Amino acid sequence: MGCLFCNIINGTTPSTKVYENDSVYAFEDINPQAPVHVLVIHKSHVETIEDLTADNSSIMSDIILAVKEIARTKGVDRKGYRVIINNGPAGGQIIWHLHVHVMGGRDDMGPMVVR
Ligand code: 5GP
Ligand code: ZN
Repeated sequence: MGCLFCNIINGTTPSTKVYENDSVYAFEDINPQAPVHVLVIHKSHVETIEDLTADNSSIMSDIILAVKEIARTKGVDRKGYRVIINNGPAGGQIIWHLHVHVMGGRDDMGPMVVR
């Protein structure tokens, strides 16, 4: 039990690793919505953006710097890609461990949101 993404970090739940460093882990989304769909998580458990403070703000910089590496690894850095955070219930968040979706591999990622 506990947090699914913490269990992915500690290996209890299997995942397909895309990138890892001391602070960040990234893996293939189990239900990809684009040719490239990678989830990027910090090894520190915080649930949402609301849990970020000046003291732990390196969580986001660690994640975004990893996104840059992942985009290069996946070959979408030059063409471009979309970075999404579903934050909170209305934002569509399902897993309560802050995460970034890196999505790409298409020439046009389409409208930003469904109107
Ligand atoms: P959210 O809506 O919380 O931003 O997105 C959660 C994402 O986690 C979804 O895109 C979903 O497909 C993905 N996901 C849920 N469970 C698992 C899992 O066990 N393994 C992997 N790799 N992805 C998962
Ligand atoms: Zn967690």
